[in-house]
Amino acid sequence: MTLPAPRFVRTPFFRRLAGRKTDRVRLTFDDGPHPAHTPAVLNRLDRYNVRATFFVLGNRVPATADVVRRIHSTGHAVGNHTFTHPQPQWFGFRAAFDELAGCQQAVAEVIGERPTLFRPPLGRWTLPLRWACRRLGLTPMGWTLDSGDWRVRSADDAGQCAAELLAAVRLGDVVLLHDYHPWIGLILDVLLPELSARGLIQPGRVPSA
Ligand SMILES: [Zn+2]
Repeated sequence: MTLPAPRFVRTPFFRRLAGRKTDRVRLTFDDGPHPAHTPAVLNRLDRYNVRATFFVLGNRVPATADVVRRIHSTGHAVGNHTFTHPQPQWFGFRAAFDELAGCQQAVAEVIGERPTLFRPPLGRWTLPLRWACRRLGLTPMGWTLDSGDWRVRSADDAGQCAAELLAAVRLGDVVLLHDYHPWIGLILDVLLPELSARGLIQPGRVPSA
């Protein structure tokens, strides 16, 4: 298949949404945790001693509690990505609050801490989501470079996805990836060595909001 090129959203607006400036590249993983693929991601990050942010879905947390504990205990950040990943439509204030609060609760029950970062499904904001985010004291975090990894369907696609990311990535980027994806390990196998060789990921550094 032909993959779409990585999408850039490096406008000042998205830069601001992406969070505090970083002097490296920040890796973020959405839609997990997955019982097999997330540990595969963690193994690879461990190998390079690199920390990332995982935006988890609250309804996947109870069945993957050990994985969430491992994310947290190994120094990665656990972020809020809602409870059920609702489609970005104009659902109401109450529903938005329940989605965010449900994820906060699910994570807190497993690691004893509530997330401090929030990323909306598909990165799309609605007024109720903004209100709920603020009300719960969460810091919004977007991305500046979308890997398009969810379209990968083969090892060739994975290599192509990683190569396109490597051609596009710059210092300061916040990269969107998905750990709920069977090919994410192969993508990282190409991505991480090269990012490390270029000095774009800094070993041992814990990401901050
Ligand atoms: Zn998502």
